[in-house]
Amino acid sequence: MFRRVDLDGYEVEAVSKNVAKVSYATSLMKQGVFISTTEHLLSAFIGMAVDNAIVELDNLELPILDGSALPFVEMITRAGLRQQRRKRTYLKILRPYEMREGDKFIGVYPAERYAVSYAINFPHPLIGSETLKVELSNGAYVEQIAPARTFGFLEQQRAMLNMGLIRGATRESCIVLTNDGIDNPPLRFADEFVRHKVLDLIGDLALFGKHILGYVKADRILRDNSYWEEVTLDDSAADKHHEEHLAVAD
Ligand SMILES: [Zn+2]
Repeated sequence: MFRRVDLDGYEVEAVSKNVAKVSYATSLMKQGVFISTTEHLLSAFIGMAVDNAIVELDNLELPILDGSALPFVEMITRAGLRQQRRKRTYLKILRPYEMREGDKFIGVYPAERYAVSYAINFPHPLIGSETLKVELSNGAYVEQIAPARTFGFLEQQRAMLNMGLIRGATRESCIVLTNDGIDNPPLRFADEFVRHKVLDLIGDLALFGKHILGYVKADRILRDNSYWEEVTLDDSAADKHHEEHLAVAD
């Protein structure tokens, strides 16, 4: 449950019926009240097996922080977890379902535990083909997924500005890709990109409102710009580390 403390504590439930937009970042809306960029925090909740939480914020957008879910994991750890008496209700997948749209594929399959896999293929020297499958019931999330940061491209800021897709962010809040490398090394994982896509997918699937018992498999391949997190750097600000602004579109 998100609570807008700047709007008299108005509450927006993190469930699919409140989803407003998922093209670049996931946003919720209820009676005109927005909660934007929910996927990293909701991902952290699922990764830490949290069912019920109230998140208070004083703005429509969740902070991007370092572009990963790790700061949220730390916040949740500090806030502390309490065991509830009622048994958890799961969403159990009963039979396979597959959907394909152009180059995009997603499949959902019965499984004893919740697992997510993601495949990406992008023509960049540091990315190429990456596939990752993670099982979420064994605590792997905190170590393997939570630290993976969002990413984007240095040279696309103007195009993004023209499309009205800019969100404020800094070089500290994402991996900045250049044509042949990254602008702010080091990576936290060699395959940090696909790990972040898994992170996002878990966060969006959280909007089912229940933990999933099943295996979700996603494939995003070449030419599908619509699902990439694109971030670019304002050239004139490139040397001013703390004042620079990047454009984030996921
Ligand atoms: Zn993300």
